[in-house]
Amino acid sequence: MKTIGLIGGMSWESTVSYYRALNEQVKAALGGLHSAQIVLYSVDFEPIEKLQHAGDWPALAEHLVDAAKSLEAAGANGLLICTNTMHKVAPEIERSVALPLLHIADATGEVLVRDGVKTVGLLGTAFTMEQAFYKDRLAERFGLNVLVPGDADRRRVHDIIYQELCLGILRPESREAYLNIVNELAQAGAEAVILGCTEIGLLINQQDTEVPLYDTTALHATKAVEWALEG
Ligand code: GLU
Repeated sequence: MKTIGLIGGMSWESTVSYYRALNEQVKAALGGLHSAQIVLYSVDFEPIEKLQHAGDWPALAEHLVDAAKSLEAAGANGLLICTNTMHKVAPEIERSVALPLLHIADATGEVLVRDGVKTVGLLGTAFTMEQAFYKDRLAERFGLNVLVPGDADRRRVHDIIYQELCLGILRPESREAYLNIVNELAQAGAEAVILGCTEIGLLINQQDTEVPLYDTTALHATKAVEWALEG
């Protein structure tokens, strides 16, 4: 089994989901007392969040490159960045370490293509919903037509992530707001919706809606376990 390196803590609430999913899937695949071989570098999220909102991506890249190098030195065979947003600095990480980086958008795009989805809604932070690094990868590599909510809804989705979900706060009115936005995306033509922030799966899941949901945390973990167990 390969050792999975996790760059986590963004936020730690979703890193818990990764840790559980990776271990459950290795257990399901191998049985007995098998569990995932993991090295975790968990950051302090407060300074990371400050740099994100200040738009200081070079400093963020430096932080995550340091984490990646630590994981490489600690014996990881490959890397996961446990957040969609921070994949903005994935190219810098890939240039700085020899390890393969399993990209969260690829793990998601592959499954959407397999399922025949062509037009997909995207929920995530404003960075993920508005900037090119994520949407363009889905469009260019997987031929997906990506829809995002309107201005006010994007703001709402973003604020709930940072002010609630990353703090472990799950409010019924926020669940309602997210489900309404999922429905609006479906009405606008989305055949499915990507939960493109690793904490959203803590708030809503497939039982809450008939619109097919693609939870990036779960898909990323599945991809990592397949990779760790192959060969
Ligand atoms: N975990 C989130 C994501 O998947 C947001 C927190 C962050 O900015 O990293 O984008």
